[in-house]
Amino acid sequence: MLTKADKILIVVLLSAALAGISASFYLAAHESGEKIAEVRVAGQVVKTMTLRQGYREEFTLRQGDEVNVIEADNGRIRIREANCPDHLCVQQGWVSLPNQQLVCLPFRVTVKVTTTESELDDIAR
Ligand SMILES: [Zn+2]
Repeated sequence: MLTKADKILIVVLLSAALAGISASFYLAAHESGEKIAEVRVAGQVVKTMTLRQGYREEFTLRQGDEVNVIEADNGRIRIREANCPDHLCVQQGWVSLPNQQLVCLPFRVTVKVTTTESELDDIAR
């Protein structure tokens, strides 16, 4: 027969176990915070791309005749091709660090590197 003290002890132990599980879930989610790139047109996010080692993705952004080919590869991203008049976006090359940004001014396109973690964590690193 369990005494009242035993029951309290069990509740305490269970709570501690649950707290431990929550904490490890939190840490796992925290550590797997992914690097992504947000593709925006005139400030609106039109596409989110994953930046990860060993992962490649290509996205062709078309706005009528305006084309930007955006390439994510091995944790970095660039605008590979564009038919904008200045090609400044293509000349910017690869970016990979959070808060770095590619801009195609004529087409109002931006590609910004960010993470799924809060920006405070990035500063703390
Ligand atoms: Zn451009």
